[in-house]
Amino acid sequence: MISAVMPTYSRADLTFVKGEGSWLVNEDGRRFLDFGGGIAVTCLGHAHPKLVEALHQQAGELWHTSNLFHIPAQEELAAKLVEHTFADTVFFTNSGAEAMECALKTARKYWSAKGQSERVNIIAFTNSFHGRTLATVSAAGAEKLTDGFGPLLPGFIHLPFGDHEALEAAMDETIAAVLVEPVQGEGGILPLPDACLKGLRDMCDENGALIIFDEIQCGMGRTGKLFAHEWAGITPDIMAVAKGIGGGFPLGACLATEEAASGMVAGSHGSTYGGNPLACAVGSAVMDVVSDPEFLADVSRKAGLLRQRLEGLVAEHPDVFELVRGSGLMLGLKCKLPNADVIAAARDQELIAIPGGDNVVRVLPALNISDEEINEGVARLSRAANAVAA
Ligand SMILES: *Cc1c(COP(=O)(O)O)cnc(C)c1O
Repeated sequence: MISAVMPTYSRADLTFVKGEGSWLVNEDGRRFLDFGGGIAVTCLGHAHPKLVEALHQQAGELWHTSNLFHIPAQEELAAKLVEHTFADTVFFTNSGAEAMECALKTARKYWSAKGQSERVNIIAFTNSFHGRTLATVSAAGAEKLTDGFGPLLPGFIHLPFGDHEALEAAMDETIAAVLVEPVQGEGGILPLPDACLKGLRDMCDENGALIIFDEIQCGMGRTGKLFAHEWAGITPDIMAVAKGIGGGFPLGACLATEEAASGMVAGSHGSTYGGNPLACAVGSAVMDVVSDPEFLADVSRKAGLLRQRLEGLVAEHPDVFELVRGSGLMLGLKCKLPNADVIAAARDQELIAIPGGDNVVRVLPALNISDEEINEGVARLSRAANAVAA
């Protein structure tokens, strides 16, 4: 008999009942160190006092009014995002896939409003992940996401990730936008080199095509900059953000320049819940912490420590791990044994890590994890590696 919850996930046999900072507590009172952050979501750990306070305060005042009215918490968060990024304007959603939907619609609408309705095609890359709606699985294109769900949304051109020549050849007058994750997440933690991002910006400027960055996983301080593309010194026209921006409360955002958003007039797009007062109150509190340059500098420092420890782990267990790669606190351990076995062994050591493509174990801790917790987590991974190898 089918379970009451639709069985679309393969879940670990673990149930958590409480979270405190970088720790999760299960039903039996066992304490697990969280190197996964609920897939890069709980960027300030669990039950951060500032986020709990922001949510409680808003919960006692007003939950929901709809976007038929002004929402002060939404306006406040939008202003903060505009202040700290390339963007001039923000549309709020409840998830990453919806932020991507808005990004895709914004790009198509831009050209249609300009009277160039032949510019509908969007270039995306193999091994990418943009969400689970029909448009976003069509965008990513991988068989494991699209199988059985056709007909897919037309208008996506898929090129190999990082292939400059293929991109140059595909750039014609039908291209509305190029969509890319500056650091691929689900695909197995693959950063696009800064030179590629710069080259992409030049190519799009020449052709007129818009750039859409999907920073749903790599944004919100994860790489040590507020957004990953800042490392390359370039900006997109449109960007999808989610995961970390709500710190665990469902929230997403589509950011755009004034020019790129010029087609998005009243009535063109909407969401009942998007930009809800509860979500935006929490998002604002997250932004206050994460946009602080001192906080970001500390993320980079800790990222250096974690990377060094993981390099040591790889050197210690050459039969289990091949290499470590990534950016900031978004790191991947490419495994020589099945990543699921390594992750299960880590769970036995009370450490949570996340699987990724290309047989990678993803390490996505809270951005405010302590040095001691980093050392403890890597020690647990080392014990797990011993157990798997044995
Ligand atoms: C998680 C993720 C998404 C989808 O976000 P949802 O909130 O699950 O819809 C899209 N793009 C990237 C890069 C992601 O990591």
